[in-house]
Amino acid sequence: MISVRFLGTGGARFVVAKQIRASGGMWFRFSPEPGEDAGPLTQIHVDPGPGALVRATSAVPPCEPAELDALVLSHKHLDHAGDINVMIEAMTTGGFRRRGALLAPRDAFEGEAVIFPYAAKFVAERRYLEEKAGPYAINDVELRTSVRHLHGVDTYGMHFLYRGTTVSYMPCGRFFDGLAEDYAAHHPDVLIVNVLRYRDSMKVDHLNFDEARAVLRTVRPKVAVMTHFSTKMLEQRPERLARELEDELGFRVFAAYDGWTLDASTEIAAAAGV
Ligand SMILES: [Zn+2]
Ligand SMILES: [Zn+2]
Repeated sequence: MISVRFLGTGGARFVVAKQIRASGGMWFRFSPEPGEDAGPLTQIHVDPGPGALVRATSAVPPCEPAELDALVLSHKHLDHAGDINVMIEAMTTGGFRRRGALLAPRDAFEGEAVIFPYAAKFVAERRYLEEKAGPYAINDVELRTSVRHLHGVDTYGMHFLYRGTTVSYMPCGRFFDGLAEDYAAHHPDVLIVNVLRYRDSMKVDHLNFDEARAVLRTVRPKVAVMTHFSTKMLEQRPERLARELEDELGFRVFAAYDGWTLDASTEIAAAAGV
């Protein structure tokens, strides 16, 4: 069983500052299906932006930080990392229980760090994410990283492999030749992609909708999810754009919304006609 709860689906400064969409990141759960070999439940919180702790604990049923196995940052920008120290304290019960793992690019720990050194010490295992690296083991979940994104700070995408299923996350970054191919090489069953912009000619380090379409056309996951929306994307109604892509590409495409849980296993099975 793999599920992803969206504790936030907003991106860009304005949406996050106004909390037009929340910015709590994504909460992954990996657990054996009934009848499969026994194994642990593994919970991983990715990109805990501003409000992550509040969104997690007020979810129904709650996402329980003290049961988290790992916190993972794609990069150190505030909309992805605003609550990282808060979540470290929550995962370790205020630092009293040294446990869990913390995986982030090196520049989140050093220089203009966003992870406080005192908080990092509460975590049992700290790992630097590097380009095209891994597997990093989190219980029996394997995390591999993508090619380096073009995004100003150290930024890596993620491929979570669990019992033969791969769920990938493409965080923020500028489009470039080879980006989609790097993700396609992992053959993700599910691809979650940050689509911040709609159509514009701004030279900024984010994908727009047409670039996301090109990425999905190359990667061809069984299930795709768009998230991390700016006001321009929200004005276009992301669920309408998702249906447009679905008709065009021939696989399931969702537009994430705050509080939504993607039941990845069920959607993958449905896509395969099982
Ligand atoms: Zn972002
Ligand atoms: Zn960013």
